[in-house]
Amino acid sequence: MIDDKPILRSGPTGPYKHGYKMCMVKYADGTIRGITWHRYIYEHKYGRLPSTTHIHHINGNRSDNRLENLEAKTEAEHCRDHQPPAPTHNYICPWCGNKFERTDRDIRHNQIQQKKAGPFCGRSCGASWGREKQLGRL
Ligand SMILES: [Zn+2]
Ligand SMILES: [Zn+2]
Repeated sequence: MIDDKPILRSGPTGPYKHGYKMCMVKYADGTIRGITWHRYIYEHKYGRLPSTTHIHHINGNRSDNRLENLEAKTEAEHCRDHQPPAPTHNYICPWCGNKFERTDRDIRHNQIQQKKAGPFCGRSCGASWGREKQLGRL
């Protein structure tokens, strides 16, 4: 097994517009790449990571590049971490009258499924409504 840790060629320089310092490194297979400085710090300790793996700053401070502040994540996980929480709204279930909270995204998804009825507080209320509708009682 090759010890594929990046060898620092130059840098770090920056920070640039996206808030990160960059550097140039060389890998064991001869690849020379520009990578973020915090990625270099992480890979220098743990070895080369696929480009689909992102290095996340745990405390949100992009210039805090201590190893204990860095965490490897998949692209999908990382995007989720940086998404602002979805706004929620309060609704009253048209079937049982319960009050409940949903995000806009949930509601859109439900309304497509239930052909614009609801939103309902849960699947069973939506199903009950659907049954009645089918029987022509609504
Ligand atoms: Zn991050
Ligand atoms: Zn309900």
